[in-house]
Amino acid sequence: MTSSPKASYLDYAATAPVKPQVITVIADALACHGNASSVHGFGRSAREKVEHARHAIAKRYHVKPGQVVFTSGATEANNTVLNAYRNRPMIISGIEHASVRQTAQALGTPHVIAVDGNGLININHLEELLKANPQSVVSIMLVNNETGVMQPVREAAALAKKYGAVVHCDATQGAGRMVVDFKGLGVDMMSLSAHKLGGPQGVGALIIADGHKLSPLIFGGSQESRMRAGTENVAGIAGFGRAVELIDEDLAKTELWASWRDAFEARLKAAVQEVTVFGANAARVAAISLVAMPGVRNDTQLMAFDLAGFAVSSGSACSSGKVTVSPVLQAMGMGDELTLSSIRVSFGWGTSAGELENLAQSWIQLYQRSGKKFV
Ligand code: PMP
Repeated sequence: MTSSPKASYLDYAATAPVKPQVITVIADALACHGNASSVHGFGRSAREKVEHARHAIAKRYHVKPGQVVFTSGATEANNTVLNAYRNRPMIISGIEHASVRQTAQALGTPHVIAVDGNGLININHLEELLKANPQSVVSIMLVNNETGVMQPVREAAALAKKYGAVVHCDATQGAGRMVVDFKGLGVDMMSLSAHKLGGPQGVGALIIADGHKLSPLIFGGSQESRMRAGTENVAGIAGFGRAVELIDEDLAKTELWASWRDAFEARLKAAVQEVTVFGANAARVAAISLVAMPGVRNDTQLMAFDLAGFAVSSGSACSSGKVTVSPVLQAMGMGDELTLSSIRVSFGWGTSAGELENLAQSWIQLYQRSGKKFV
């Protein structure tokens, strides 16, 4: 699947293309007007779409439908949790997405869990922070959006519970890329976003364990069991539900995609010994690879790849367009030069093996042309 006949879209971690079956559901929902809160037939039909999606999401993550609160995306879900527990000490990992990191900073002074050079959180450090800050709120992501490294959330949650913490997991990048079981993770809250898994942008969910009553972030209506005011985004929610129903298609390709990623990285390494693959020694999801091209800045690479017909990104997509040093790679102890020469390749349901092979070839050519100077 390409955005234009010639371009390879390899930026699924920024946003995945919407699956055709999802587009059909969204178009159908848009064609039938109705406010899900209205009591008449139009309203009931809209409500049915919302509840169908809620059931699909509940089934996928092994929770009850009543535990799923729809939001405008993972950013809002993350904000909701941290805002609700703003009076507790906050413990977040050093590699959280800006929607956790900046929110925690805006609300107070978070304690930050160290990560190692492979991009994995340091559980011993988490325990030190928990000991010093009992009854905290802990937020740890399931999969890092830049490196694809899976975090030991289950272990961290079990530990945090011993110290009376409330535990939140931002599962945005894990939800469509690995098997996720809310109960199995042992967390109290989990954030999801539709557009990373073949659904539309602007819709997500917060899953809340039984027994927790959070104060809402947004007031002004009784929607979502008074947890999130505002007319429901019926078409978006319906598309989200359909995308979640289709996740097994992607999970079935995990091994295949890991083999494509490994072949891609192996080709780069064979051509350029000093290439750095971030998180290479940790467990990663299959379809994300963050690699540094020695001596070539990522903005130079992004432009060159764009011209060559490849859409990739530099680290976090939310900061692409301007060159900023990735806080994730900084937390991993990487120097500026390495950080500023890294690009993220991420793919998924519409990608073919040939696209990664072509990118590897283009990557090697660009490196050879660069004269290996940091320009
Ligand atoms: N968390 C992570 C890990 C992400 O990758 C993103 C998307 N960049 C978000 C949260 C924010 O999600 P949304 O775009 O749905 O607000």
